Order: sequence, then C-alpha cells, then structure tokens
Amino acid sequence: MSQQLYDVIIIGAGPAGIFAALELASSGIKRVLIIEKGQEPSKRKCPREEVCLGCDPCKEIEGVGGAGGFSDGKLCNGPVGIDKNILGEDYPTLVRYVNDAFIRALGSVYDIALFSQTVSFQTGRLSITITPVVRLGSLEIRRVFAKIFDSLPISKETGVEATDVSFDGDYFSVETRGGGIVKSQRLIVATGKCDFVLRERVVKNFSLKTFPNTPQIGVRLETFSKNTEKLLEMGPNPKIKREFEYGHVKTHCFNHGGEVMAYKCGQFVLVGGRLYSIRHLTDFSDLNIVYKVRSREKASLVMQSLREIKERVGLKTLSQDLISFLSKQRPSSSISSRLAGSIIVNFENFYPSFVVESIREFIEDLIENGFLSLSEEAFIYGPAVEWLLSKIEVDKSGETSVPGLFIIGDVSGKTQGIIAASVMGVRAARKIVETL
Ligand SMILES: Cc1cc2nc3c(=O)[nH]c(=O)nc-3n(C[C@H](O)[C@H](O)[C@H](O)COP(=O)(O)OP(=O)(O)OC[C@H]3O[C@@H](n4cnc5c(N)ncnc54)[C@H](O)[C@@H]3O)c2cc1C
Repeated sequence: MSQQLYDVIIIGAGPAGIFAALELASSGIKRVLIIEKGQEPSKRKCPREEVCLGCDPCKEIEGVGGAGGFSDGKLCNGPVGIDKNILGEDYPTLVRYVNDAFIRALGSVYDIALFSQTVSFQTGRLSITITPVVRLGSLEIRRVFAKIFDSLPISKETGVEATDVSFDGDYFSVETRGGGIVKSQRLIVATGKCDFVLRERVVKNFSLKTFPNTPQIGVRLETFSKNTEKLLEMGPNPKIKREFEYGHVKTHCFNHGGEVMAYKCGQFVLVGGRLYSIRHLTDFSDLNIVYKVRSREKASLVMQSLREIKERVGLKTLSQDLISFLSKQRPSSSISSRLAGSIIVNFENFYPSFVVESIREFIEDLIENGFLSLSEEAFIYGPAVEWLLSKIEVDKSGETSVPGLFIIGDVSGKTQGIIAASVMGVRAARKIVETL
C-alpha cells in the first residue's frame, strides 16, 4: 500500500463499500482507500468440484462486488431488506439514485418500478406482498460492480484482509494480514453478513452496543419452473407469509430459472440461489422458505442447529426430496439431489421441530393455493439462513456511537440486500462529506 494516511478507509468492496467509495469520489474526496480481502471479478471463480471446499476468502461471495456481485442480481426496490428504524423518508429517492448508477454502469436502461407500487393481499392463511424488483442476473450484476469499481479514482487494494482496527484519538488505524497498518480520519466497515471475525473485534474495541436480530432458518425448495408458474405471475420476488406460534414462515428470494448453490459464510456452509443470466434460464426455479423466529427463547435454537449441522456434516449441505419431507417418510433413495456435495437427510433430525413442522404446513399451504405443484423431482436444501448477525447501534448512515466510525450494509445487521446496502453506503459517504 503506497500511501499510509487517508481521509477515509473503507473495509469491504461489496455493494455498501463500493457505493460509499463512489459517492465520496464523486464529492471530490479522493484520499480514500478501499480494501477487499477477496479478488477482482476476473479472478473470482469457485474451485468447487464436488463439495464446498471452505476456501477463505470464499470466491462465491467475497471479492469485488461482494455477495451482491455473485448473487442472482435482483434489485429489490421496495421497503424490504432494511431495518424499518433506518428506512427514513429519503429511502425511495436514494433507491432511485442507486438504480441510476447501475443503469449508467450497465449502459442500458431498465424500468425502475416505482417505490409506491407495493401491493399486499390475503389468500386464506397466507399474506402476500408484491414489491418492485428488477432482475439483472449474475453476469450483469458482476459487470456493474466491476465497472463501478474500476472507474473509482481512489486507492484500491484487493487480496488485503483487515484484521483489527483501533483509534488513537486522531486517527483510525487498520491492521492488515501480513502486518501492514493504514490510518484515516474516518473509517467505514462494510464487511458483509458473513463477517463473524473483524466485526467482533470492532464491536469489542469500541464497546459498541448490539441488539439481537430475528434470525431466520429454513430450506431452499427447488422444482421445475413449470411448477411455480403462479408464483412467477406475481413478479420476480413475491413474498408470501403465514404467522406461526414463534414468528412467521415466509418465502424469501424466488429464483426463477436459476440454480441452487452452496457458499461459505463465516464457519458455516449455507445454500443460496444464483441465476447465471436472464437470457439463459434453467428449467428449474428455487425459493427460500424460512422461519423468522421472533421468540427470544427459540431464537437461540437457530444458532445451535447451525453449529450442530456443522459438527455432523462439516462443509456439506443437506437435502431431502420434497415428497418424503411432506409425508414424514424416510428420504427417497431412488432420486438424487442436484446440488453437488449435498447429503440426503431427514430434515427432522437437523432442525428444531417447530421449524420443520411449520415449514411443512407452509409448503402445504402453497400447494393448496396453487402457488406450487408437487412433483417427484422437487427437493429441499439447507441450511438456508438469513439475518443471523445481531444489530449494531448505528444511525441511518451507519455512524456508530464513535464519531467517524461507520458500520454499513449487512455487517451492521440492519440490511440484507444489494439496494439497501448500497443506500447505506451513499448515506455514510454523504455524512462524511458534511463533516470532513
Ligand atoms: C447467493 C446469494 C444470492 C443473493 N442474491 C441477492 C439478490 O438477488 N438480490 C439482493 O438484493 N441481494 C441478494 N443477496 C444478498 C446481497 O448480496 C447482500 O445483501 C449484499 O451484497 C450486501 O452488501 P454488503 O456490501 O453489505 O456486503 P457483501 O456483499 O457481503 O460484501 C462484503 C465484502 O467485504 C469483504 N470483507 C469481509 N471481511 C473483510 C476483511 N476483514 N477485510 C477486507 N475485506 C473484507 C468481503 O470479501 C466482501 O467482498 C444474495 C446473497 C447471496 C449470498
């Protein structure tokens, strides 16, 4: 690293970090350094052949563009994926601002569905919300982040991991693996939802206040796309939910024509959804069905199940054919799962019983209401987990109780999604510009 003293250092080049950098640079602040432990987009290729190898960094979700750069590129433009306490009246305007930057980088226009176009209705026990979503696909979203990153007129370092941070009264210091130290007047931590390491150090070193989140655990259901036609009619990402005793079960992330994949998240391997390109759809669709656990007492069981799964199956993921799951039978051995490295199990033996029972009932509701048709090749995969990190006390712009220290995007426990994380990046940068 050539220069040692910066106005701002940003740790993490996911959507939150990249948008903070873009906004700082366009406001004329150029003594900015962004460090990213993963690689540039061209070097991001998962070496997995059979199973997730547990690489550190994980090339699926770490590197320039972060998890957002290797997602299925759904831009959720409604009031979703963001803690309502930091939504703010300016959110719709900032959503449009972020989309405009995507459109410039893409070089082609797409329709930004209006923020106000959120529709909710009830069907039997299920409540349905349709929010505006633009779906770009993995290839395009990678291209967008790579282009924005390349265009940034600031200092950029990839393959550099921040290992510790401190404050000496004048400057924040960032230590990197290998012993380097860089300093800045302001510090932005944007290390994503799978950072269980640096985040802990930052919280401890600066005595930051944290609050429990509402963790979500569940399965990713994959079936032929033709079995999900009624879901697709409601748009690229309809949200369906039903209340249960300890919270609610809901669909989270519908991935039409995509594929199920495994990725490393901290010490765990989780399942997610990926769409290569909207021009090359597969015959399959998948969707997350998760239990959002509101009960404090039950919430601890989510983390406990994850740890137990890790102990029992290591880096492998779990799968079960849907028919045996619904009929409470032993998993069928005659059909094999499509996710490499996934072992066939009975989910009942891995998840808390209230989760399994409620998810089963919810899937039956989906079938009863015509949102899903049952067929033999349908599988469920796990573990699928969302909102695991606690919330750190920050304002809308991600500033903590320590002036000048910002924690933004998914690592704050306040966002989960490309757009929400990017908006937080813009807000952080604007607040810094006001005070520098
Ligand atoms: C498989 C998958 C599919 C998804 N699909 C969608 C979707 O379609 N639409 C949507 O809105 N959201 C989607 N998401 C969620 C979305 O990707 C995230 O919400 C978003 O990327 C969060 O942005 P972020 O910048 O906060 O964090 P991240 O994107 O996680 O970026 C954090 C970056 O920080 C780096 N980092 C971490 N620790 C360090 C360190 N110590 N030093 C240096 N660098 C570090 C990481 O390498 C990473 O690149 C998906 C997520 C996954 C995993």
